[in-house]
Amino acid sequence: MTGRSASAASAEPIGAGRVAPDDEAGSPDWLGDGYRHIWLPYAQMQTSPVPLAVASTSGVRIRLSDGRELIDALASWWTACHGYNHPHIVGEIKRQADIMPHVMFGGLAHEPALILARRLAAILPDGLERVFFSDSGSVAVEVALKMAVQFWINRGMKGRKKFIAFRHAYHGDTTGAMAVSDTDDGMHHLFKGTLPEHFLLEVPRTKSEIAALDEFIKGRRADIAGLIIEPLVQAAGGFKFHRPDTLAAIHKICARHDVLFIADEVATGFGRTGTLFACEAAGITPDIMCLSKALTGGAIGLGATVATARVFDAFLSDDPDRALMHGPSYMANPLAAAAANASLDLFEREPRLDQVGAIADHLAGALEPCRALAGVKDVRAFGAIGVVELDEMRGLDWLRARFVGEGVWLRPFANVVYTMPALVISPADLTRVTDALVKIVAEWSRKFA
Ligand code: PLP
Repeated sequence: MTGRSASAASAEPIGAGRVAPDDEAGSPDWLGDGYRHIWLPYAQMQTSPVPLAVASTSGVRIRLSDGRELIDALASWWTACHGYNHPHIVGEIKRQADIMPHVMFGGLAHEPALILARRLAAILPDGLERVFFSDSGSVAVEVALKMAVQFWINRGMKGRKKFIAFRHAYHGDTTGAMAVSDTDDGMHHLFKGTLPEHFLLEVPRTKSEIAALDEFIKGRRADIAGLIIEPLVQAAGGFKFHRPDTLAAIHKICARHDVLFIADEVATGFGRTGTLFACEAAGITPDIMCLSKALTGGAIGLGATVATARVFDAFLSDDPDRALMHGPSYMANPLAAAAANASLDLFEREPRLDQVGAIADHLAGALEPCRALAGVKDVRAFGAIGVVELDEMRGLDWLRARFVGEGVWLRPFANVVYTMPALVISPADLTRVTDALVKIVAEWSRKFA
């Protein structure tokens, strides 16, 4: 065996293909044996510390193979909104697994997906009524972009194929989604030039910026299929927030110039910003909305692209070429749909939005001590999202390892240290998260700023 300690305190590199030291305490065989064959996400494989070996999860806890326990302050990339292994979600997945784990969705339909579609249409902003299922957030975005371009083609306007996208946007890792993310400074900047080019603008925040967006769109309307935005919170592109009235103003401009408005609620959907969907706070109905992440309560991948009747109707025709030609093999997977229905049950039965309110109140005050620290650029909180933005990231592996040392799973990236915990996190656990965050950022400030 080629085991290696899962200690996050060890930042010693183990590059791809290199053999790790044998038999360190607490390191399971599968980690060392499998590590040489794995390619990890967002990781420089030559220098990245070996990942922590996870034995199990429950509630907001991640249990490591070496016996340590971490409070998850990220809800597994913002998916596990009810915490891990929720008995209702797990029970519904098990029940569905006995009936039918999967069946293709072409020409066949099944109860969990059709019930889910009906339930989503009932809770989404009025007018969003046709649900196209896929298997991830990135693919939900791909489908939205494709829908928008074909909407215009089907109406005889082949030239409308560009999108307005925003600086600091992140919409996923597939090609179309990368192209509407921040291709100047974002994580996909290397691909600038190979991706389709769209219009990358700043999110307008002032009256004159909003007027400038209006002018911009007015002048290029014939080229533009749609505008895509993460409503209220641009998440993985740096956790930049904008106000509901800004969102409403952008929506109004799109409506005025008949440009499709696509709301990517993959990160914000299902309570994260304090309303069930961020668009609700602005009182808007987008033409197309993308959902994923917390849709299944974090249990299984599922994406949904939801359109208004107007968008859907543009695909109706005697001509087969006007159909939406998309259909991932695992779309509408019954296990995922069962998990999503169970997650919606929990939103109905339990006071999730009140819990978000309580988390928001806590985060608004608890991270403030960071503001005075050298090297800290900004501290902000909104809904169940708390962010400490640094002037510049230094000592990233050190920072990540220190959080693990404090028993908290936080994973800073770019120049942000942030938390997006499960919406069910207890006040005591949340306090442990924010205490650790403030303490370690203060240590970081003394050491690196
Ligand atoms: N859209 C937004 C707003 C996201 O935050 C993400 C992921 O972080 C995605 C799309 C991509 O989702 P996935 O990772 O499921 O492909």
